Amino acid sequence: MTIGALALDSDALAACYIVACVLFIFGVRQGTHPTTARRGNWIAALGMAIAVGATLATDVIGNWPLIATGLIIGSALGIVTSMRVQMTAMPQLVALYNGLGGGAVALIAWSEFRHGGEVFGLEAFIPILFSTVIGSVSFWGSNIAFGKLQGLISGAPVKLPGQQVINALLLLGIVAMCIVLAVDNESPSEALYIGVLIASAALGLMVVLPIGGADMPVVISLLNAFTGLAAAGAGFALDNIALIVAGTLVGSSGTILTLEMAHAMNRSVGNILFAGFGGAPVSGSSSEDRPHTSIGAQDAAIMLAYADSVVIVPGYGLAVAQAQHAIKEMADALVRRGVNVRYAIHPVAGRMPGHMNVLLAEADVEYEDLVEMDDINPDLPQTDVAVVVGANDVTNPAAKNDPNSPIAGMPIIEVDEAHQVIVIKRSLSPGFAGIDNDLFYEEKTSMLFADAKAAANDIASEIDEL
Ligand code: NDP
Repeated sequence: MTIGALALDSDALAACYIVACVLFIFGVRQGTHPTTARRGNWIAALGMAIAVGATLATDVIGNWPLIATGLIIGSALGIVTSMRVQMTAMPQLVALYNGLGGGAVALIAWSEFRHGGEVFGLEAFIPILFSTVIGSVSFWGSNIAFGKLQGLISGAPVKLPGQQVINALLLLGIVAMCIVLAVDNESPSEALYIGVLIASAALGLMVVLPIGGADMPVVISLLNAFTGLAAAGAGFALDNIALIVAGTLVGSSGTILTLEMAHAMNRSVGNILFAGFGGAPVSGSSSEDRPHTSIGAQDAAIMLAYADSVVIVPGYGLAVAQAQHAIKEMADALVRRGVNVRYAIHPVAGRMPGHMNVLLAEADVEYEDLVEMDDINPDLPQTDVAVVVGANDVTNPAAKNDPNSPIAGMPIIEVDEAHQVIVIKRSLSPGFAGIDNDLFYEEKTSMLFADAKAAANDIASEIDEL
């Protein structure tokens, strides 16, 4: 039974889709600045609600009980998981949602394939095949990414002998099957179509398994772009403007984000996909034997309280410790004493783009106090104390001093140029790249071994007592 009144070719439906598309674009635009990002999300969500509502109001939609059940289950799962997720688990949540998007597109394509009957024009059939392949690759690849980040499967790169050859053969097989299907588009074989789905699933698994767990955020961003393109393909097959525009927006923004992340690590996307980097330490742990200076919260408080300028460098450990509020309190205690405090933001600090901005914004740190890497680096030689909070790779001088380092050439926050450095972390263990950090052993560096939140709380109370 259909109860909607809008015809698929009606002006009212087109108007709803155009409004939705304008809201998507406006929402993404607002998302480019932390102060407006939250509003941007709401605006884009409103656009999606209009697009979904208008589609449901068309006169071709039937089977309401099934649709209502899907909407209720999907909304409930989405709301509950989003409310409960920890900031540190955000990358895997994005992977999961992205995988669902890819899977949904592949299923829509399959359904279109089955209902196309004998009237397939190539202009609809090619997008269907495209969405099938990319949606399936994205679904399976994203699930592996989720499994690696959630610790359900090992984050270490898994390489089979002849992996690249197997991948190339799979890709060739998929293209060949698609060509056969397209040539026979008046009565395509469903068995062959299912073969395309399965081979694409295998390709998604085989491409993502060899990638180290810590590179997953970049992979997720790339798969996200794929899902967007697959959705745009489905939009062409269904002749749906909203799907075409939304998919293209996701595809293009995901591609830009992937390139930006790779650029910030000074690595190519090819290196990330094929080098098997991260996920397992690459250096021995001789670090415990190297001489270093260890201090307590009271010593740190004295160094900081009598400084004129302090730069705080947050990293992944700040997210793990949920130390953003404690760090803000520590910074406030310093500001009350007249110290100039700023935060240095590295583009890939943490485990997802904008990770540090989001955390610090949550603690009400003024946006003006967050300084991008390229702007803070020239100021570091005049900075009295740099405080590294749970950051490691993004401060490792090996990136500029050691051409053989795995992170050689990666731009870093040059804390080693400051007069003094305090590093707050729990041990001398390496970070994501699995390499020792020479910064810890420099004469000007003092290590404060503690959980970032506990250390920041202790330093703040010590400063108040001085
Ligand atoms: P790192 O992963 O290099 O280091 C984080 C450090 O935090 C660890 O050495 C750990 O040391 C410390 N830590 C963990 N838990 C705590 C805690 N509770 N309290 C205090 N310290 C803690 O992080 P960075 O932010 O410096 O660098 C990010 C890395 O991730 C880069 O190599 C980047 O390329 C990579 N990456 C980033 C992406 C992004 O989009 N942001 C995407 C993909 C990769 P210890 O165990 O001793 O406490």
